[in-house]
Amino acid sequence: MSSGPAEQIYDALIVGAGPAGCAAAYDLAKAGKRVLLLDRRTFPRHKACACGLTRKTLKALRYSVDPIVERVCHEIVLQQQTDEPKHREVRVRTRNPICAMAVRETFDAFCLTQTLAAGAHLRHIHSIQTIHEMPDHVALTILTDQGPETLTAPILIGADGSNGQTRRLSQPEAHWYTRGFALEATVPYTDLPSPLPGGDNPQDLVFDFAPLPGGYGWLFPKGDHINIGVGAFAPEDVSHHDEESLKQVTRTLLNDYTQQKLGLIPTHITGQHLGMGGHNYTPQGRILLVGDAAGLVDPLTGEGIHSAIVSGQAAAAAILSPSNENIAAKYATQLRPLQDTLAFSHRAAKAFYKQPQRGFRAMRMPILRTLVLKTYADGLPHTALLGKLAAAVV
Ligand SMILES: Cc1cc2nc3c(=O)[nH]c(=O)nc-3n(C[C@H](O)[C@H](O)[C@H](O)COP(=O)(O)OP(=O)(O)OC[C@H]3O[C@@H](n4cnc5c(N)ncnc54)[C@H](O)[C@@H]3O)c2cc1C
Repeated sequence: MSSGPAEQIYDALIVGAGPAGCAAAYDLAKAGKRVLLLDRRTFPRHKACACGLTRKTLKALRYSVDPIVERVCHEIVLQQQTDEPKHREVRVRTRNPICAMAVRETFDAFCLTQTLAAGAHLRHIHSIQTIHEMPDHVALTILTDQGPETLTAPILIGADGSNGQTRRLSQPEAHWYTRGFALEATVPYTDLPSPLPGGDNPQDLVFDFAPLPGGYGWLFPKGDHINIGVGAFAPEDVSHHDEESLKQVTRTLLNDYTQQKLGLIPTHITGQHLGMGGHNYTPQGRILLVGDAAGLVDPLTGEGIHSAIVSGQAAAAAILSPSNENIAAKYATQLRPLQDTLAFSHRAAKAFYKQPQRGFRAMRMPILRTLVLKTYADGLPHTALLGKLAAAVV
C-alpha cells in the first residue's frame, strides 16, 4: 500500500502508520487536513502483538472492525502460582463480550485502508534522519529510495512505536520513558494435543501470573490458532531495578511455557518492547508523541492499542482545536484523562505485581471481580469505585 504525491504541502506529518498514527491521521483527514503518514514497513506487515481488542478499544475506533474480528471472548481466566490448586484460577465472565480477538497484521492493514480512504496519504521511507523544530514549522529529513529529502509541516506526530526515532531525536533526555518487553508465538489448533498438558481449554482467554514476576504469560484464542506469549510490564522498582526485569523474558522462557501449556515448542517467536512511563510525558513544542512512542502502554495489563488510538485522536483534536493555546498545551489537555488512568494503573501495577497472591485473594470478592473486569474491558469506572479498587489491590 502506498499513495501520496511527492510535492505537497501538509498540515501534519505522522511518522508511523500503526494504530496511533492511523487514529490521528483518520480524524485529521476527515476534518479536511492534508496528512502524510510515513512508515518504514510495507503493509500488511507483521507486528509482535496478541491483538486483544477490549470493549473500550472497539468503542474508541471511528469504524467497525467486525470484518477482521476472529473471535469474541466473554470470559477471562486469571491464573497464579500457588500450592492450593483450588485457588490457582479465577474465572470472570460477563454477558457482553470483554475482548475481541484479531490478528495484528490484518487489524493494522484494515485500519490503514480506512485511513487512506478518509483522505490521508502514505509514503514508504527507510528512516528519519533529522528533526529540526522552527518557530512556525518542523523540518523532517527522511531517507527514501531516492535518497534524503526534507519535508516540512506545522506539526509532526511521532507514532513510530516503542523503539521509534521521533522521541529519541526530539526528546533525547526523555527520563520519563521506560520500557516493557514481550515475546509471542502462534500455534495452530490442529497442532495441539488433546487434552492440553496445562489443563487449559484452547478457547480460553488466559492471563497467567505464574511464569514470571512483574508480568504474565497469556493464551489468546484466535480463529485458527492460539497466540501464546510472555511479557514483563510492571514498573521497574517492583521486581528489580531498571531494565533488569526485562531480561527474564527470553526465548527459553517462552519455549518452556509453551511446552508446559500446549505440549510443544513454538516454531517462530517474535518480540518487541512496549513503551511505558507516559503518564509523566509532557508534550513540548510542535512535535506530539502518541501511542508507544509516548510510553502509553498500560503497566498493569500491557494493553497498548487503546492508548495508541486515544492518544492519536487526542493529538488530532489538539490540532483541530480553534483555541489560542499553543499546540503542545492543547494536546496536554486532551491527553490528561488517559494519563490519569495510566497513573492509576501504574500505582495498581506496583501494588499488584509486588504480591499477586494478595490481588488474587481480593478477587474472590464478586464485586471486585466485576470491577476488575469492567476496568479492563471499559476503562476506569466511576471515580468513587476507584478507592475500593485501590484499597483491594494495595
Ligand atoms: C508481544 C506483544 C503483545 C501485545 N499484545 C497486546 C494486546 O493484546 N492488546 C493491546 O492492546 N496491546 C498489545 N500490545 C501492545 C501494542 O502492540 C502496542 O501498544 C501498540 O502496537 C502501539 O501502537 P503504536 O501505533 O503506538 O505503535 P506500533 O504499533 O509499534 O506502530 C509503529 C509504526 O511505526 C513504524 N516505524 C517505526 N520506526 C519508524 C521509523 N523510524 N520510520 C518510519 N516508520 C517507523 C513501524 O513500522 C510501525 O508501523 C502488545 C505488545 C507486544 C510486544
